[in-house]
Amino acid sequence: MSVLVIDLDKIKHGSCRQRGDLVPAEIELEGEPRFGFSGPLRLDVRLSTTDHLSFHVAGGLTFTAEGKCRRCLERVTTKVVNELRGMFAFPGALDKLALSEEERREQGIFPLENNAREIDLTAMVRENIILEYPRFFQCDNDCRGLCPKCGKELNTDSCDCREEFIDPRWSKLLDLKNRK
Ligand SMILES: [Zn+2]
Ligand SMILES: [Zn+2]
Repeated sequence: MSVLVIDLDKIKHGSCRQRGDLVPAEIELEGEPRFGFSGPLRLDVRLSTTDHLSFHVAGGLTFTAEGKCRRCLERVTTKVVNELRGMFAFPGALDKLALSEEERREQGIFPLENNAREIDLTAMVRENIILEYPRFFQCDNDCRGLCPKCGKELNTDSCDCREEFIDPRWSKLLDLKNRK
């Protein structure tokens, strides 16, 4: 069974720990090319309940995101450590909370069917990745990227076209600086 699926019997004494690796395909993000990964994703969460109607999930999701530097297009990997927090609830518990669907979503509460025998973390993990995945990659804070004119990699190479690309609004400032 996938690490994302937890049999409710495992939580019958009030809590359990669920940890293990999963492959990106398990989170069903294939249609989203912006999510690149290097290696498996590591899940480590604790599930707990006091009433056996609602189940709290708290822990982390760790993975290596892989993408291209937004300036020079080099391959870049970044380690990501996300906090994973939410709740699964049977209708009995949801009714007591009396939340709108939007509020439920904002609070990370996932409904369980009355006859559910297991908790499936797939949707929770998918949402976590969609929200917390790096917005962009950059190989280095000082990455100089590619020359917009000739396409040379300016980290390792140089070209003569750079001067022409100074924004006219900055040229006065540069003049002042050069005079000093
Ligand atoms: Zn770069
Ligand atoms: Zn150039």
